[in-house]
Amino acid sequence: MQRTNVSRLRLLLIAALAAIYGYWGNEGDASALEGAITVTGYGSYCSKTWGDGAWAFNYDDTTASNPCLKDDPQGMGTTQRRGLFSINEWNDVVVKCVGMGDVTFTRVGAAALNEARQAVSTQLHSSCIFTVSPRKIPIFDAPFAGTKLCGTGFDHSRRTTQMKNYLGEEAKWNIDNHEGIDWGIAANTPLTAVASGRVVKAMVWINTGCPDKSIEQIERKVFILHSACNAAGFCEKFVSYYDHLNLLAVATNQLVTKGQVIGKSGNSACVPEHLHFGVMRLTNTSDKLLEDFDIEDRFLQATIDPYGWRADWVDPRGWEDDKTGDIENDNGAISVNLWNEGKAPQCK
Ligand SMILES: [Zn+2]
Repeated sequence: MQRTNVSRLRLLLIAALAAIYGYWGNEGDASALEGAITVTGYGSYCSKTWGDGAWAFNYDDTTASNPCLKDDPQGMGTTQRRGLFSINEWNDVVVKCVGMGDVTFTRVGAAALNEARQAVSTQLHSSCIFTVSPRKIPIFDAPFAGTKLCGTGFDHSRRTTQMKNYLGEEAKWNIDNHEGIDWGIAANTPLTAVASGRVVKAMVWINTGCPDKSIEQIERKVFILHSACNAAGFCEKFVSYYDHLNLLAVATNQLVTKGQVIGKSGNSACVPEHLHFGVMRLTNTSDKLLEDFDIEDRFLQATIDPYGWRADWVDPRGWEDDKTGDIENDNGAISVNLWNEGKAPQCK
């Protein structure tokens, strides 16, 4: 009898570990989830493939089960994407299969996922990968107080010489492919964390691009990792990026809470006084499940617009590239509106 009890205990332990693995196993470094933000109204989805061309795409809108285990209880397949979708609001889905052009869907709730699956399930296409993105995950508050001058915005078009704002309209900024938002802000204005998270890098960067070599050439930057997770432990991860600071008030690896002062704005790196604010998406980018935050590679990260994308077709930044419209090996991502209701920066 005792032997049976021990076996049962072992089984329970294995089940517990499996549950933990199922929750966090593909999310990378568990310590990065310290300070995670719990979001409600989001289900979990999972896109899997197997070496023989088989694929599975499942979702759960109750957060009671793990859709990665539904057609793959043994965990033999490769998880290509896993993350959040909005149960009651808009989602985008991009489907890529071998031998088929990209298919995109924009619908409310699980209808987007259902239609995407139906579109390919009856055909003989193999190795299908489904990338889902909710239009909104409201976790950010403005990084500064008051109304500021709006400058160059985020360019959603990957094509050079063409610029598009988040409404899908042609924009006429000075910088093509700008991967962030500029606000004119007087030097030494306090800047705050847009959401709780972990400072993955607070640094001084040597910028050799200053035309006048006699002046200070350093550039101060802060990068903060934010994890938005549902009750099932499915997460989407973003890094907020503050540039041209005159003062750093946080250190690498520090946990911060929303509204905490992380530094002061400025003109470091020989620019006019302004805040460049960027957001990198680390989960469910165009060609990857997870993108590692890499400061040395920061220009290669998938950057998104924190105002999201509001036209009724899928964000071109998330699946087109600058030549063929295909992103097999590209680093784009679908933008998500990350601002809390009424908390986006006010600009004039
Ligand atoms: Zn900028």
